[in-house]
Amino acid sequence: MQKDFYRLRCVGCGKTIQESDAVARCHFCGEALRVEWDFFKLKKRAQKEFHKLAPTTSSKYRAFYPLAAKTKLVSLQEGDTPLIKISKIGKILHQPNLFLKNEAMNPTGVFKDRGSVVEISKALELGAKAVVCASTGNMAASVSAYAALAGLPCYVLIPENTPLGKLAQAMSYGARVLSIRGTYADCCVLAEQMAAKYNFYLAGDYVFRGEGQKTCAFEIIENLDWKVPDVVIVPVGCGTNLAAIYAGFLEFHKLGFIKKIPKIVGVQPAGCSTVVAAFTKKFKKAPFVAHPDTICSAVGIGKPLDDLKALEAIRDSKGIGITVPDAEVIHAQKDLGAQEAIFVEPSAALPLVAIKILQKKKFLKASDTIVLVATGVGLKDPKSALDAHPTPPAVEPEISEIDRFIKYKLYAIRSAGFAERKKILFRQKPTLAKLTQTIKKEFSANLKESHRQEVLLAIETFIAKGKPLTKADLQSLVEEALSDLTYETRVMRVQDYELKIQKKRQPRAKITVEFLGKKLTASAKGVGPVDAVISAIRSALKNKSQLKEELVDFEVFVDADGVDATTEVKMKLEDSQKNSVVAIANSPDIIAASIAAFEKGYNILYWKGQKIGK
Ligand SMILES: *Cc1c(COP(=O)(O)O)cnc(C)c1O
Ligand SMILES: [Zn+2]
Repeated sequence: MQKDFYRLRCVGCGKTIQESDAVARCHFCGEALRVEWDFFKLKKRAQKEFHKLAPTTSSKYRAFYPLAAKTKLVSLQEGDTPLIKISKIGKILHQPNLFLKNEAMNPTGVFKDRGSVVEISKALELGAKAVVCASTGNMAASVSAYAALAGLPCYVLIPENTPLGKLAQAMSYGARVLSIRGTYADCCVLAEQMAAKYNFYLAGDYVFRGEGQKTCAFEIIENLDWKVPDVVIVPVGCGTNLAAIYAGFLEFHKLGFIKKIPKIVGVQPAGCSTVVAAFTKKFKKAPFVAHPDTICSAVGIGKPLDDLKALEAIRDSKGIGITVPDAEVIHAQKDLGAQEAIFVEPSAALPLVAIKILQKKKFLKASDTIVLVATGVGLKDPKSALDAHPTPPAVEPEISEIDRFIKYKLYAIRSAGFAERKKILFRQKPTLAKLTQTIKKEFSANLKESHRQEVLLAIETFIAKGKPLTKADLQSLVEEALSDLTYETRVMRVQDYELKIQKKRQPRAKITVEFLGKKLTASAKGVGPVDAVISAIRSALKNKSQLKEELVDFEVFVDADGVDATTEVKMKLEDSQKNSVVAIANSPDIIAASIAAFEKGYNILYWKGQKIGK
């Protein structure tokens, strides 16, 4: 059912494609397709006067969608996002006309909703029975929301490490989610095969998506009261959005609504430079990045479908492509939050990072009107945001604890920035004076002597394991010490342990603990070594201590690559009065970390019980 006001054309071989033959890729050469409008007809469909007066909503732009007249628009009232003048950051950067188009304000928290309207409406128009899409997370969330609204089952393929918020969204919208042990590129191949084999509608960065996403450009023009910005800066993953935004400006220009087209700047993280690498090296196609390495998961796309369109948009608009380091992205993300109260996910902070680089390249004038496209909301990926900050100290509900928080300026502790996490601080055990100095210098933190001693003790386990202490390690130890403010006296300390691990038998642990000055020993079996050690400690304390603690939660996090990994153990202990404490400990040794966490939790809980009992 080809409409007469547009047709599909391949951006590779240039052939015209029938909508009934393919809507994803050219079936001759495999390249991406584009919607080619008949501008004479589009002009009749689209009336500028109407656009000036009508409120900005996605349905207002219906004339610009390649949909049949009778097709129902599957809409969640996306679009109409605010264009915000970010004056504080603009002042710091000497760009007084710096704006941010906050696409995070779309229904599922990402610009992709603009595209999903057209895509899912088209799926209905073509009589689809189900939808499938591959995603790094946001596409999954958006497509499943619109599929739910349309009443279509939605299959979603995502890589295993997809940020939790995005996964939670897709699941909540009722998607049938499958986690793939591979990259986004693997998911894409599978989704295309699945669509062909089961006759599902293939959603994603395909031809109709851009036709919805181009409305971002229309809105920017309207938000600026029909003035055209000089520069628009867009993060690039598949390149679909950048190409769509350019197409939007181009359409308004061809229709005579605007007199010029802004320069379009594409930004990618250094760990996944595809379109930008092609732009810089003047390649025709983007080089393949087999293993994207960036915190910007939404743009960690090694094989972008719309590289050709994005490259054309950057070149034809006299724009530029640049890459930026992840460390700067985290800074920009923090700045947007702390200065402008805009919380975005890392990928959405990419355009802000670009400003300084563009200034150095003399690409920007001070008078330029610049629009940063902030693509997605920060709540989708809280882990990456939290990683950039120290864990807040946990204290008892008492004003004296608050006093300490203020006095020691615990809120002012600097985090080991992303770039510095691996910086090695000690290869050997430092003196107490040296440690004090280092903590002050690296974190601007001020610890009590007893806490510094604790940290020193913990550093010993790192050195004993042959692991140099990195800045991230020291931060964990400092955080541990601080969340420890509370308990002044330790009643229990593990002095020694022995582990027996034999094939085909449960591990057995023997343990010596000091409790209220007395030495206690016990042994126990467990399903694993950690379980055996904790069971042995509890068995040693049984009948000796009035504390009846329960281990209600136990989590292990391993901080990254290889043998040098630091293990963080988080335990939640609860007593019979339902007092509870969350204790955290770090060590290169999972047993040592588990013992330390248990010890800490136990002591705090004991102390708490005593105090409340009095
Ligand atoms: C999808 C996405 C991008 C990249 O857009 P493309 O169209 O793939 O280039 C950027 N930021 C966020 C938050 C996204 O979800
Ligand atoms: Zn082709």
